[in-house]
Amino acid sequence: MKSEISTLLTDLKEQILYLQELGANNFRVDLPEFDGSKFKVQSSKSEVSQERLERFVPSDDELPKIEPAKPKVSNIENTSTRRSLLESTKLSRLPSLPKRNTFSTDQKTEQARETEMPKIAIEDAPQDLLFGDFKQTLPESNETIEDIRLDIGNCVRCPLHEGRTKIVHSTGNFAADLMFVGEAPGADEDAQGIPFVGRSGQLLNKIIESIGLKREDVFVGNINRCRPPGNRTPTLPEAKTCKPFLLREIAIVQPKVIVVLGNTACQNLLETKVGITKLRGEFQDYFGISVMPTFHPAYLLRDPTKKREVWEDMKKVRDFLNK
Ligand code: URA
Repeated sequence: MKSEISTLLTDLKEQILYLQELGANNFRVDLPEFDGSKFKVQSSKSEVSQERLERFVPSDDELPKIEPAKPKVSNIENTSTRRSLLESTKLSRLPSLPKRNTFSTDQKTEQARETEMPKIAIEDAPQDLLFGDFKQTLPESNETIEDIRLDIGNCVRCPLHEGRTKIVHSTGNFAADLMFVGEAPGADEDAQGIPFVGRSGQLLNKIIESIGLKREDVFVGNINRCRPPGNRTPTLPEAKTCKPFLLREIAIVQPKVIVVLGNTACQNLLETKVGITKLRGEFQDYFGISVMPTFHPAYLLRDPTKKREVWEDMKKVRDFLNK
């Protein structure tokens, strides 16, 4: 019981500091110190008396014996709160927050815990400050595309190497303002070692030309560089193994806009589970780079009526680049 109280107080202090770091300074909480047997009230202004604090803590016998509760994440990491914060800021996407300590699992239900934990309403925090001036940017890279290729070498880091003919590296202009990211090579790409050279690639070239650019003006790559058997979607571990090389290339090229083509590219780059149909057409943020999710050309080949949406998305990209 004593150690639980100490843990709760420590957790609570940390949560308060966290809120203050985020700019929430317009509340005051005077937490007592707990020396293992007694509470010491810190501030003379506190309205909580020593006696009341001691009564506040039930004895071990008074506590119900219940199964361990699941750890509770802090309010700020809670998805619905994050969503409302998102709505109150201009950011299209909140950056991942550093992991904070969750309350430790112990012998109480969440309900019991909530009655014990003083509540700090998130609404008290100045919403316009929360994350408002927080923008992560890509670090400067001091390596070259060639360094990355050497590092990739004759890669056997994931099972996709078993069926490949050629590794398909990203190609194009290494100083491009615009980059396209697809999923993984198909049969034509696997044979030639160049991304987007098959039917999808022909359509991608037309998409690029529709906004007044040429294929050689842009940088084109995939989440995975080896062809998955039967053109299946790469698994999450396969994508996670290969993606870092693409991210290192993005840090070198530092494009102004990345167009992610289709669900796999979009979900893997932005690390989201939200589908392409929901995300397409709106700029997202990736470390300060604007990301436009749109449909994959292979999908347009199957359903040409979707070309209209891609055209709308590409006009937004063109206008952004011409600003
Ligand atoms: N589809 C992709 O996602 N990438 C390619 O390189 C070719 C087809």
